[in-house]
Amino acid sequence: MNIKLKIVFTIAACLICCAGFKGYSQTVSPGKSLDVYLLIGQSNMAGRGTVDAQSQIASEAVLMLDKTNNWVMAKDPVHFDRASAGVGPAISFAQTMLQGNKNRQIGLVPCAWGGSPIKVWQPGAKYFENFPYDEAIQRAKIAMQKGVLKGILWHQGESDNDPKKAEAYLEKLKTLVGNLRRDLNAPNLPFVAGEIGYFNKENYINEIINKLPATVENTAVVSAKDLTDRGDHLHFDTASARELGKRYAAAMQKIQQKPSKETGKPRVVLTFDDAEITHYNNVAPLLLKYGFEATFFVCDFPIKKPGNENEFMNWNQIRELHKKGFEIGNHTGHHKNLTKLSPEEIKKEVAYIDGKCKEFGIPKPISLAYPGNRNDTISQRVLKEMGYQFARAGGAKYYKANEDSKLDIPSYTVISSDKYKERTMKALQDLKGDDVLVLTFHGVPDLLHPDYSTSMDFLKEILEYLKEKKIKVVSMKNL
Ligand SMILES: [Zn+2]
Repeated sequence: MNIKLKIVFTIAACLICCAGFKGYSQTVSPGKSLDVYLLIGQSNMAGRGTVDAQSQIASEAVLMLDKTNNWVMAKDPVHFDRASAGVGPAISFAQTMLQGNKNRQIGLVPCAWGGSPIKVWQPGAKYFENFPYDEAIQRAKIAMQKGVLKGILWHQGESDNDPKKAEAYLEKLKTLVGNLRRDLNAPNLPFVAGEIGYFNKENYINEIINKLPATVENTAVVSAKDLTDRGDHLHFDTASARELGKRYAAAMQKIQQKPSKETGKPRVVLTFDDAEITHYNNVAPLLLKYGFEATFFVCDFPIKKPGNENEFMNWNQIRELHKKGFEIGNHTGHHKNLTKLSPEEIKKEVAYIDGKCKEFGIPKPISLAYPGNRNDTISQRVLKEMGYQFARAGGAKYYKANEDSKLDIPSYTVISSDKYKERTMKALQDLKGDDVLVLTFHGVPDLLHPDYSTSMDFLKEILEYLKEKKIKVVSMKNL
């Protein structure tokens, strides 16, 4: 090849490379509410396996929050702690989590730091130029704007693998899990730790790590048995890192499928239907005062009678509710009876609100309230296909997570007539075990539909009761 041609080829190759690289790092906006997983620990979580051809495969089903806090398609190296970052357990974990769950989209939040000892994984602690714990919390919260935090993966211990440090390790690990759950406002968040490689020349730490599940609820430890190192007696090789990821997924699924261990701790879900303006003007400010989460199920009514336009929220106001931390749920486009529609028509009604949310930068809802609470197996199936995880009906019963379908969650309608007031207060007072009471409100007050009106005084009475009895209030997506 003559020199001229060589130069042309080199430039062409560079262009192709750069274009490819640019395509990979281009930011992606999550199409659905993400299942968010926080990845923390040291180098074997960050990954030190050799990047190979398989590492080049990426899809929109698995995203990662990059160094600059943008979502990109996930590819190894997922981490950026060192130039040596390579294949870790993250990608195979996510792919395994998606098997049989094709509707979900995963958002990985890499925050591990090679070499970090457990003592730097606490609030305010510095590790070289970084604050591993504080940055992990900060990045998890950024990720949670686009989805729901579903769990934490922890792989750490090599830097604490001596007799003295191992002795103090369990207490530190317990504190870490407690701190994370507190700071991320997720008291039962699944936490999966991993054993360090059996190829380490000495091993004091695995025995200690394995004590975690018996000490802290909703935690698990994955085995590193039979996994191999990359020749340094420290880091997993590529194949082992991927196998480890699969083991993390199996353990995570096991915790997630376990019925809530919060026995003796009932919960209440406050839901507000029909996008009424009083939700924006009266309800949201009051809820913020109490620090309670809530779900607002919004729709666009087909006919806003002249003069009534101001009785409903506009989409800018709905977006503001989202920005204040409330869940925006789907109440379908035009409030039609879904049991009278074909699957295609149901899809259209549901997609209408999904589209509006997208347009206004609100995460795709994962909760829906059936118009008029009417639903059937067809509407439930369509919702499932569309990635919905929770759907609310009526029925004036508690929701029992172990018995009831998540796509047919019963609720109590609240109205401030004497009869309904009595019924609501009784439902609150009788709450026990791990029952969930879902309350459905319309306007507070409701000027257009006085029959469905709840007064501000009655809403305040309910919120006071919840506060006084220390009853946990969650939005529907956090059930
Ligand atoms: Zn409604």
